[in-house]
Amino acid sequence: MRLLLVEDDVELANHLQAELARQGYAVDHVDNGIDAELKAELEPYDAVILDLGLPGRPGLEVLQNWRQKKNRVPVIILTARDAWHERVDGFKAGADDYLGKPFHSEELVARLQALIRRSHDMAGQNIHCGGLSLDEERQQVTLTDGQTLELTGTEFRLLRVFMLHPGRILSKTRLTEHVYDQDFDRDSNLIEVYVRRLRDKVGKQRIIPKRGQGYLFVERPE
Ligand code: CA
Repeated sequence: MRLLLVEDDVELANHLQAELARQGYAVDHVDNGIDAELKAELEPYDAVILDLGLPGRPGLEVLQNWRQKKNRVPVIILTARDAWHERVDGFKAGADDYLGKPFHSEELVARLQALIRRSHDMAGQNIHCGGLSLDEERQQVTLTDGQTLELTGTEFRLLRVFMLHPGRILSKTRLTEHVYDQDFDRDSNLIEVYVRRLRDKVGKQRIIPKRGQGYLFVERPE
């Protein structure tokens, strides 16, 4: 999962970025409205955390512009605690959720997880696909035979991307982008090693390598 964090408060941004990385998200951070607007047009983010009071261009205007251009990326806006009108304006502009400042990062993470599940038409606590159930809290997967396995951070991030995009070939570049943030050395074959380990855990017939293209998560293996 790849997130865009738009926040000009450096201290808050650093704190959130660290916390979101711990939760297995790859996070790009920008601190102004102009870069934010452009960034979400160039990169396919799974969700955006958008502060409203921003230098360059107000968050509300950024959001309106995305929606006008049919960019439907899920957006959580950060608003001042008592500013109810900001929340109303935010929803009118196309926000999916809001959080009043100050907030606990746990709440932001919980809202993000719920929002991303909803955007993939999944209800409930866990991510379900093809009989597998992925627990985002514990970073564990339950297989069709009822066996529950622990996943490493990277395996968890990879499997989450696979399970949210069944039946679609995901390139190594795409997978790398979802697993690591932008500062990570993307020029590596490490992703192959991680996918191999994940296939050993969830079954080789689940994740099929496609030569020169990437990998395919199969909902109903033969
Ligand atoms: Ca601000």
